[in-house]
Amino acid sequence: MSLSYAESLSYFPHKGKVGMPELTENVEDLQTKLNQLEQMIRQSHHTVVITGAGISTDAGIPDFRGPNGVWTLEKRGEKPTFNTSFEKAIPTYTHRALCRLEEANYLHFVISQNIDGLHHRSGLPVDKLAELHGNVFAEECEVCHMQVIRPTAVGSYCRKRTGNVCNSMKGRNKSLSCRGKLRDTVLDWEDALPETALKLSEQHCAKADLCLCLGTSLQIRPCRDLPRKTKKNGGKVVIVNLQKTSMDSIASLIIHERCDRVMKHILQKLNLDFEKKSDLNDLSKYSHVKKVVLLLGKNKSGKNYIGRKLAEKLSAILLNINESGQHEYEKTNDRVDTAQPTVNQWTNEKYHADPTYFCRVMLDEKNESCSSNPLWIISGVQHTKEIEYFQSYFYDRLLFVYIEASDDVRKKRGWTIVDTANTECQLDTNVQRSFTFTNNEEDSFDQQMSHLIHMINS
Ligand SMILES: [Zn+2]
Repeated sequence: MSLSYAESLSYFPHKGKVGMPELTENVEDLQTKLNQLEQMIRQSHHTVVITGAGISTDAGIPDFRGPNGVWTLEKRGEKPTFNTSFEKAIPTYTHRALCRLEEANYLHFVISQNIDGLHHRSGLPVDKLAELHGNVFAEECEVCHMQVIRPTAVGSYCRKRTGNVCNSMKGRNKSLSCRGKLRDTVLDWEDALPETALKLSEQHCAKADLCLCLGTSLQIRPCRDLPRKTKKNGGKVVIVNLQKTSMDSIASLIIHERCDRVMKHILQKLNLDFEKKSDLNDLSKYSHVKKVVLLLGKNKSGKNYIGRKLAEKLSAILLNINESGQHEYEKTNDRVDTAQPTVNQWTNEKYHADPTYFCRVMLDEKNESCSSNPLWIISGVQHTKEIEYFQSYFYDRLLFVYIEASDDVRKKRGWTIVDTANTECQLDTNVQRSFTFTNNEEDSFDQQMSHLIHMINS
């Protein structure tokens, strides 16, 4: 996959220095430098990270200018070997560590030159990320610029039209879809960078006290100029890279070490390491799972009923995030002597603090059946963060099934407008549907059900 990317780019002779030797630190120097970096992170009020291919090599995606990089080998007339595809690559320790730093408010923006989509897949919030060279999983509408993230790589490069059209809703009653043509988002050498992403990157770098560059030789403009903006405004630049970089002269600290190793030490020092967080980050635990069906849709569209039917017919495990919220509420709020929040207040507050909290509760609750069943149906997804959470475990094993019903039918089933503000599912604009099930009285329930089952089984 990466190879076809490299081969799709037009001829470009100025690829910078390639194949420079990789350097290492002695143990003492490394310790001193890690302590310095820890202090800088702790003292900084606004920290920006710039990432390059070096942070994805441990995911099996080759870099470009390392000793076995794509351009290094090209210069020698050789081709790189690939251990993975973009779909199968799993976010590295560094990707996950950046999410932890962001959650803990130590990190405020990430600028990436990588097209592998691993930042997105590791669950980094979209508004904290600028992917300057594009993302192989994303398509963008040429009219309204909405991005759609696909479960598999789009398969085209250099901002070509993909043949798909934009389904985002526009107009006052949101009754018309945009229908603009979609393009892949991966840039060719001479393409201009996405304007908004570049502008945001420049603003964050100018504002930053600390600009941490990870796994990049900083040879490609305009990315290589971003750390200068931090330096110019009195901030510090730190570079973690095995090779020398073009910005070494402005760096306050240079660490020649693998990014994963540095990030492991930094997370330990900041008391944020993963081992302390008992959650499901062990990806191998669910390697037996073949498919995970996420049922999405508005209240009273019939998700739970369809979920139960599917689980029966497919012998799948049925998981409901809302039910877990209810159980957890009952467990937590069992005191009679003080005023208790309502279940809605309580779950909304929990969602606000951590949108994936109930996903974890749900999987813990059903631990045994989750560990034995290869097919899961999950209902009650309400938040993009929940989708990102499942994506980080089950990327190409996820199916997004959207259940639709008219407002009239939903009202008949007991839906009232009053409770829509917080609980209406707002996920329909940025999720690529695998299947749409229209669940009104006049729609053929059985026929759609059998199509859906066929799709899940195929
Ligand atoms: Zn559009």
